[in-house]
Amino acid sequence: MPVVEVMSETLASQVAAGEVIERPASVIKELVENSIDAGARKIEVEIQRGGIALMRVRDDGCGMSPDDAARSLERHATSKLRSSDDLNGILTLGFRGEALPSIASVSRFTMTSREADAVEGTEVRVDGGNAHDPRAIGCPVGTSIEVRDLFFNVPARKKFLKAESTEAAHIEHQLRLHALCTPEIGWVLRKDNRVSFDLPATADRRVRIEAMTGAESGRSLIEVPRYEERGLVIEGAVLPSDFARRGRKHQYVFLNGRPVEDSVISRALREAFKGSLSEGLQPAAWLWLTMDPTLVDVNVHPAKREVRFRDTSQVRIAIIDAVERALCPGEVIKEVVIPPPRVSTPSEPVIAPVKESQESSGQQAVKSKPVWHHESQPELDVQEEKVFKGPQFRVIGALSSLYALLDGDEGLVLLSPSSGRERIIYEKLLAKEEGIASQGLLVPVLLELDARDVDVLMRHQEHFEDAGFSLESFGGNTVQISGIPSFLKVGEARAFLTDLVDSIIDREGTGRVKRMAYEGFAAKVAEAGVKQTSWQLSEIDGLLADLFQCDLPYCDPSGRPTLVQISHQELERKFGKS
Ligand code: ADP
Ligand code: MG
Repeated sequence: MPVVEVMSETLASQVAAGEVIERPASVIKELVENSIDAGARKIEVEIQRGGIALMRVRDDGCGMSPDDAARSLERHATSKLRSSDDLNGILTLGFRGEALPSIASVSRFTMTSREADAVEGTEVRVDGGNAHDPRAIGCPVGTSIEVRDLFFNVPARKKFLKAESTEAAHIEHQLRLHALCTPEIGWVLRKDNRVSFDLPATADRRVRIEAMTGAESGRSLIEVPRYEERGLVIEGAVLPSDFARRGRKHQYVFLNGRPVEDSVISRALREAFKGSLSEGLQPAAWLWLTMDPTLVDVNVHPAKREVRFRDTSQVRIAIIDAVERALCPGEVIKEVVIPPPRVSTPSEPVIAPVKESQESSGQQAVKSKPVWHHESQPELDVQEEKVFKGPQFRVIGALSSLYALLDGDEGLVLLSPSSGRERIIYEKLLAKEEGIASQGLLVPVLLELDARDVDVLMRHQEHFEDAGFSLESFGGNTVQISGIPSFLKVGEARAFLTDLVDSIIDREGTGRVKRMAYEGFAAKVAEAGVKQTSWQLSEIDGLLADLFQCDLPYCDPSGRPTLVQISHQELERKFGKS
């Protein structure tokens, strides 16, 4: 007959440890989270042999009194949660009161801690769950925790540990996440007596990002200016789309000081880059979100990486908005980009860089934006303006009816005139600069649509006019069309119109109604607008000029390239000359 027995405290802790402590990196995570919660300004971590032999975390945080130090090792001892009501508003990283006893039950554990105004500190030692009596000890203010011989008393767990180098890599990854998250804290990692990183505290997040990602990407960082709406604050930085990668390894999202992974956030990031990312690529981004802790549930998973937002669409829309502002600081561009008046000699186009604005944050996006203008300008101007060596193309021919061939500085360039035109029409529509050419109908057409479509048509009438439609309500669900885009045949008008209505409806549901809906709309109009048009070589110069006036000349509205280059080196390689 099996006998039901209450587990000993040590056994219960070891069982709990299975949940919280999977490997050395989980110990490090719990310990540094405690240090951050304790208000540390500097956290030093030392590991030996992948953390299996030794992990030591030292902080200069608030420390613990002798009583608290002893109590912190009892299960469910926490200073961070008093009642279940508190669970709704967790701002500290730890709150389960499980970590320290769990760790101490599966290792040789020593903690020393001293509060700022205490004359001496306390040392508590626990060997595989067996606590020694606390004793007074001299030590600096703050807490130092040493964990030796992890899993020495649970061989089944020890067997599952990977190679020391793998465990070390997990620890380093964990620490990098925390260090990125908290630039205001100085971090040091020593691995087998060698310093892996030593990051001084900084008030500037970009300094920390640069320290962790390298100078090259650091220089290209685009700041996401502080965005605040309904209690949700977003700050951070992104890299331009040419740094995008497969997978989300370059996306770091911190929510209320905690690294999180959330598909809503990464999808929103992609959406914000829409039109400039190729299929399957993810933008590189570092975002810090702060929000009312009652609006997000962080208690979903023992390792606390997953979160659940109350209002997913608020988060999504805010991220899209914040990042779009960073990528195209709307008015800012208009202010900064003032192509000087030129007397043109159109044969020699030159790309000039936009002068960088020093004024405020968030404008880095502008600096690499090429502005097209034609050379030759008043003498006075010349000195100030550095001529940027941008792409200079000579049209040399056509390949089938699909591509124009260009002789570029760095090799052969193929232009897809239809993709280029799509980009141009798309941006003109977005800028509301110029509508699509329209053809009047001798006999207006009456279209009977469903009520929802008529509603959308009427609410967005001005967009449809930009697209070349002239329409008015004819009462009930009937719309009278007296003009259609010149690229369209009368018989196609209905299908195209309802297609556009759908593109608006699709995106209206997503929230940031106006712009996003219009972007989808503009992309559709642009695509349809170039469908059947042919091109002549003589038009290519003009087309290139227009294309390079666009914000994103190198891709069409759906992210496919407009220009493809085959470099001289590549050609030489192919001909066996290098
Ligand atoms: P939790 O973090 O979930 O509260 P832990 O077992 O990780 O539970 O820690 C228990 C308690 O010990 C904490 O609530 C905190 O009061 C105290 N503590 C742990 N680490 C530190 C530290 N580095 N500095 C100050 N206090 C600490
Ligand atoms: Mg904790």
